[in-house]
Amino acid sequence: MADIPDPASDAPRQPVGRSEMPDRVSRSRKRASGSELERRRASASGPRLVVVSNRVPVPKDGSTKAGGLSVALEGALKQSGGLWFGWSGETVENPSEGARISQAGNITFAVMDLAKQDYDEYYAGFANRALWPVCHYRLDLVQIERHELDGYFRVNRAFAATLAPLLRPDDIVWVHDYHFIPLASELRKLGSNNRIGFFLHIPWPPPDVASALPAYHRLLQNFGAYDLVGFHTPQDAENFERCLVGENIGSSVGPGEHQIDGHRVRIGAFPVGIDTETFARAAAGAERNALVRRTRASLGNRSLIIGVDRLDYSKGLKQRIEAFSCFITSNPDFRNRVTYIQITPKSRSDVPEYQRMQREIAEQAGWTNGNLGEVDWTPVRYVNRTVGHAALAGLYRMSRVGLVTPLRDGMNLVAKEFVAAQQPDDPGVLILSRFAGAAHELDCALLVNPYDTEVCAAAIARALQMPLAERRERWATMMKRLQVNTVEAWCQRFLSSLSRIPAGVTEAHPAPDAERNPSPEPETAPA
Ligand code: UDP
Repeated sequence: MADIPDPASDAPRQPVGRSEMPDRVSRSRKRASGSELERRRASASGPRLVVVSNRVPVPKDGSTKAGGLSVALEGALKQSGGLWFGWSGETVENPSEGARISQAGNITFAVMDLAKQDYDEYYAGFANRALWPVCHYRLDLVQIERHELDGYFRVNRAFAATLAPLLRPDDIVWVHDYHFIPLASELRKLGSNNRIGFFLHIPWPPPDVASALPAYHRLLQNFGAYDLVGFHTPQDAENFERCLVGENIGSSVGPGEHQIDGHRVRIGAFPVGIDTETFARAAAGAERNALVRRTRASLGNRSLIIGVDRLDYSKGLKQRIEAFSCFITSNPDFRNRVTYIQITPKSRSDVPEYQRMQREIAEQAGWTNGNLGEVDWTPVRYVNRTVGHAALAGLYRMSRVGLVTPLRDGMNLVAKEFVAAQQPDDPGVLILSRFAGAAHELDCALLVNPYDTEVCAAAIARALQMPLAERRERWATMMKRLQVNTVEAWCQRFLSSLSRIPAGVTEAHPAPDAERNPSPEPETAPA
């Protein structure tokens, strides 16, 4: 999973001078000090929740983002009043100190800008060219630059320095994703004794792969400052624990618990869900959506196969188009009887690997159409546009097959959305990579190895010909799971685990920094 609010558009806005900066929430925007925030304190019962994520869905014109995860986190924040903190999404020449604050109901939004160099090193650099590929098992794409690593830790220090004055002693802090691994450690150095949880939205690989990370030992040690560390799957959690053991970081004190520098860290699997009922309702009502109607009309009698993914090398798009091509070649009866729509918004276009991939996938889709297509049939409709959830729900529902074949994915929400959107009496079939986190729960999908072209092609043929009874049975089992494990349930499970950790156990929190716990790796490149 990428940044929370809008995974499809994660490039920063262009650098702007302070005076040109769009005033997104001008009515209540101001620089905040700790005491100002104190005054805003809602008359809430129970500790306040503080969510930290790279992107923050600051409401524009009073409205908030519609994404399931954002809505769930907002719901949790509303329960006892909350603070949502992170990057503004803006790079500026001279970022000011302190956060930009706005208020919506009992939720406070606090964001800070980044300098261009910070963005390049922390976000486009270390987070997306080292952590992302390693965590997605793509060691061939890892870019190790010491200045980016230093930038990652520096920017985390800056985030912590901006957040610390906004924190109250009893706040519960929930930090999201790979951009912020060192955040708790930096907050501890500034005196925070808060309960702090961390959730990783991407996979965590086994030691052999994870150890390709620069500053591997130091990063692992930084997890020791959290009270609870959550992953999508038991396999990710187990990989992580094996990494700790392999690096002699702390000691295991029971299943899912490690004692690191005198502090107990709980580790567990918390598979994220979607807002299942809302999505199902949206799909049922999407018949009226203009894009859905136009698409239906354009298909004629052809069956629809759909793929929806950010343009990312982890999604297995090249292999997927190859598998579709192989399916058509080996099942000529399906020529001109199916259409494969691949909706693929571009992302991270300023990272070179992504630019190269954009070109390659576009060429491959064009080549496949040239090779297989006919004057009256375009087999692959490859679209680099973001489609809103309302239309997406309708497109999933009219599809015979959902092709979700990432080479590696933390969870993959599209897989869950596809299932939630189906018509109960005539559901489509999900083909799902066994390397997606979602495969743990959606094991009634047709599970495939996405690298195996012929197996994937055979799965497409099987899905298109699957008897109704089997489709219904598979779908019903998966839908039941999605109805239980909703995004709201996920939120509650993580937060209640974090809340159950006794407050005050953090008093011995050490600051696992490089000085006190020298890493076996040099922090700067050797001369
Ligand atoms: N999405 C969307 N419009 C698009 C493409 C994707 O709204 O055109 C949404 C999709 O519905 C899902 C999310 O983006 O909610 C993608 O999440 P997923 O976990 O599948 O992949 P990620 O992009 O986080 O790696």
